[in-house]
Amino acid sequence: MHTNYNLRFHNTFGIPAVAERFATVHHPEELSVILAAAGNPQDLLLLGEGSNVLLPDLVPGLVLLNRIQGIDIVRERPREVIVAVGSGVNWHQFVLWTLRQGLGGIENLALIPGTVGASPIQNIGAYGVELKDVFEELEAIDWRTGKKQRFTAEDCQFGYRFSIFKDKELARKFYLSKIYFKLTKGHHHLNTSYGAIQELLDNWQISEPQPADVAAAVIEIRRAKLPDWRQLGNAGSFFKNPVVDRDFFNNLRTDYPQAPSYPVDEQSVKIPAGWLIDQCGWKGKRIGNVGCYSAQALVIVNYGGASGQEVLAFSEQVAASVLDRFGVVLEREVNWV
Ligand SMILES: Cc1cc2nc3c(=O)[nH]c(=O)nc-3n(C[C@H](O)[C@H](O)[C@H](O)COP(=O)(O)OP(=O)(O)OC[C@H]3O[C@@H](n4cnc5c(N)ncnc54)[C@H](O)[C@@H]3O)c2cc1C
Repeated sequence: MHTNYNLRFHNTFGIPAVAERFATVHHPEELSVILAAAGNPQDLLLLGEGSNVLLPDLVPGLVLLNRIQGIDIVRERPREVIVAVGSGVNWHQFVLWTLRQGLGGIENLALIPGTVGASPIQNIGAYGVELKDVFEELEAIDWRTGKKQRFTAEDCQFGYRFSIFKDKELARKFYLSKIYFKLTKGHHHLNTSYGAIQELLDNWQISEPQPADVAAAVIEIRRAKLPDWRQLGNAGSFFKNPVVDRDFFNNLRTDYPQAPSYPVDEQSVKIPAGWLIDQCGWKGKRIGNVGCYSAQALVIVNYGGASGQEVLAFSEQVAASVLDRFGVVLEREVNWV
């Protein structure tokens, strides 16, 4: 157990927040021992790889770094397998493991930073695939009582960058310890229609792609588009893409005929938040240590030395100008702790 521990290397924004107390969990059975040693705190913050959090200068109480390991095939069906994964496994390493086994389902989610345990929390998604598409169930520990509880996909109520664990109270109640995935063994349902995946596969003259080929394309696209957080602190998309009424969008289109959108359902569409922010002139703009990334306005970056409050204040200015100009509310995707 550490006291006054610097979390700088445990969040991808690189914020030098200080945890009052800090410990690492490698196995679910260690949890009760660590909590007892910390005097059974009433509150704690679970951290995976800190790629979706914005931390204040001081994090009071106990911070637990989740490093529960293990990847096991627990069931085989004719066309799919169920894989149980320890929640502290690195997400991208898990993706690579599935590719080595010839399994399909999460190839489009390659290179997303973070742990497997955080993946259901905001139903991670990229290039037309979401976590919910491969989710079987999860095991969570109510850390105050030590009781284990299982959650099915229905229980989790997955939506766009959403699950019930986004609720602050529930998020602070459960330690997600193991996630079960259903992955295809053959006859994979590959999704190559999103972004430039198909174009790259064509360039590489791959006419019958395997999951590993799709992952390779996704990795290439992501590397070109997003800043490396090891060099330029960030947490990926800072805001969610707002979902608006079709009538509202049609009105907006009269002033901005080039406004992009993606259909959600018959009533609503999603507007790329990056486009809205870009229109307000924020792309590449910097205030002090914080700015909007030059190649993608939706990514807020720490040029070095920024505090969590500074990043938050910058993001609030960005959101206020989008609200002022378009009447659209931007919701944070990143968790302000
Ligand atoms: C460069 C970059 C690109 C990204 N691209 C994408 C993308 O394409 N799609 C996407 O969806 N996301 C993306 N993200 C966001 C991020 O990678 C995901 O949200 C990821 O799942 C966060 O994992 P983590 O382990 O770092 O979670 P953390 O940031 O450590 O935690 C996030 C939240 O989950 C809670 N939490 C973490 N682990 C547990 C657990 N085991 N039990 C209970 N609560 C827990 C934390 O308390 C916190 O509230 C990106 C981030 C970066 C930096």
